[in-house]
Amino acid sequence: MSDVIWRDTYLQLSRLIAEINAVGLTSDQIQGLCESMDLHPDDLNELFERANTLWEVGKSNTLGESQVHVNCPNCDEGVLDQTAVNDDGYELTCPNCGAYVLIDDNGFVTLGE
Ligand SMILES: [Zn+2]
Repeated sequence: MSDVIWRDTYLQLSRLIAEINAVGLTSDQIQGLCESMDLHPDDLNELFERANTLWEVGKSNTLGESQVHVNCPNCDEGVLDQTAVNDDGYELTCPNCGAYVLIDDNGFVTLGE
């Protein structure tokens, strides 16, 4: 792991949440988290998705990689080509369906126009 990535607390917190989801929680743990955070399970899943997106985008950006492993909201394929970073986030194109995809600083993935 590159030291730059390791020292980025924001990135590592995103990674920690994404990894916890990848390892998997029991239904009791999910229920406990939802009660503790006053969230619906769907909201918890959305937070896990956003954490994963922030980790994947941040890691790719820090390493200067041109591809981001985030699912396309149009075709659900798992790799997007990064074309630009601007103040509003990241602009990407899906190599599978050609969709224009936006990822904002909060990890929200949306289809562009
Ligand atoms: Zn696509």
